[in-house]
Amino acid sequence: MADIETFRQETRSWLEANAPESLRDYGTANLDSYTWGGRNAKFATPDHKVWMDVMAEKQWTAPTWPVEYGGGGLDKQEAKVLAEEIGRLGLPAAVDGFGFTMIGPVLLQFGNEEQKQTHLRRICRGEIRWCQGYSEPGAGSDLASVQTKAVREGEEFIINGQKVWTSYADHSDWIFALVRSNPNVKNQEGITFILIDMATEGVSVSPIPLISGKSPFCETHFEDVRVPVENVIHKIDAGWTVAKALLGHERTMIARVFGGGGGKKQGRGTLVEMASKYLGEEDGKLADPIFRHEVAQSEMDAAKFRYAAQRMNDKAKAGHQPGAESSMFKVLGTENNMRRSELEVRLAGPQGLGWEGPGFEPEELDRTRAWLRTRGNSIEGGTTEIQLNILAKHVLGLPD
Ligand SMILES: Cc1cc2nc3c(=O)[nH]c(=O)nc-3n(C[C@H](O)[C@H](O)[C@H](O)COP(=O)(O)OP(=O)(O)OC[C@H]3O[C@@H](n4cnc5c(N)ncnc54)[C@H](O)[C@@H]3O)c2cc1C
Repeated sequence: MADIETFRQETRSWLEANAPESLRDYGTANLDSYTWGGRNAKFATPDHKVWMDVMAEKQWTAPTWPVEYGGGGLDKQEAKVLAEEIGRLGLPAAVDGFGFTMIGPVLLQFGNEEQKQTHLRRICRGEIRWCQGYSEPGAGSDLASVQTKAVREGEEFIINGQKVWTSYADHSDWIFALVRSNPNVKNQEGITFILIDMATEGVSVSPIPLISGKSPFCETHFEDVRVPVENVIHKIDAGWTVAKALLGHERTMIARVFGGGGGKKQGRGTLVEMASKYLGEEDGKLADPIFRHEVAQSEMDAAKFRYAAQRMNDKAKAGHQPGAESSMFKVLGTENNMRRSELEVRLAGPQGLGWEGPGFEPEELDRTRAWLRTRGNSIEGGTTEIQLNILAKHVLGLPD
């Protein structure tokens, strides 16, 4: 215990000395100003870059990854202390993205030494931003039907086909993709998991506008894209195993991002603050008893989720790979988030329905758009129906 207390004191001192003042108490700022790194990294302020660089130098952007791959080599307890101390100062993530949450953990599990050395270090330093090339127009829930074709020619694969719903493809440097390398076997047995540099000739992206008014998605096209065979993760035709492992990490990440509630993070104040603004208070309580009940329920649901997620995080830091239970967290976290967001809009009454124009505060417009964005929560990372199927089969052991 003395050691961990020493670690806490050292961590606190280091953060006090190195974290930019302007980013402290950052909890109320918009998540959009987080840094995702990459060749064309955007920083909300110059201090965001300073913060990413000092944390990368300290090797704390991926606290539990091994030191030899650019991580911090911290154990579970130390990583928890670091997170607590970062939280104490209200600092944002130094750099975030699918490199940390999806492809990184999978490379640690399945990558060869050279792949780990190359890609994990770049992720830790915020040099490369990743996107996910799984879904296709004919392969979403039925992901094993991917048709993007990979034909081997010497030491290269020639890739042709189309991915869809590729989040942030237009801002990403590399894509991890599922390709059909063998059309003559059972679907799951002919898929390869491959890494592709988006700057390779023949890769093109076109953004798709969404109901929320943003365009975070793209169609991603591959036309005779030549990719070295050495970019295959695990083995040729054995990508389905890697794909499923990555989905476990993805669902855990989606649950974590959306599940704990906390309108504060989005810059819109807490649910209680906003309920009090629109409903008023009587005798120190929210004036409307029905909404009061709903707000309390939503806060309890978020707290329940956070405690359960904390146990899951502790297991993950101890090296546990997420399995079918990640589907449970994904359903719970996203359903909570969707209900909460809808409650926010109902609480705001007519002020919750603004799209643009005068008569609405910026945070009210932000709320409407955020609510529309939550419609995707039950779809992204695999739909709720598919998660319930997984739980029925693999957790509850129910028959097909
Ligand atoms: C916000 C967002 C971000 C995304 N980002 C990415 C990304 O970065 N990369 C990427 O590759 N993909 C991404 N996706 C795509 C996502 O993974 C797919 O949309 C999802 O897997 C569903 O596939 P689909 O859209 O083809 O729907 P379909 O598979 O066509 O499903 C349509 C409906 O049928 C239901 N259904 C289908 N099969 C069954 C079944 N067996 N049992 C019961 N119900 C069933 C589904 O639940 C759904 O309601 C993203 C999606 C969203 C919304």
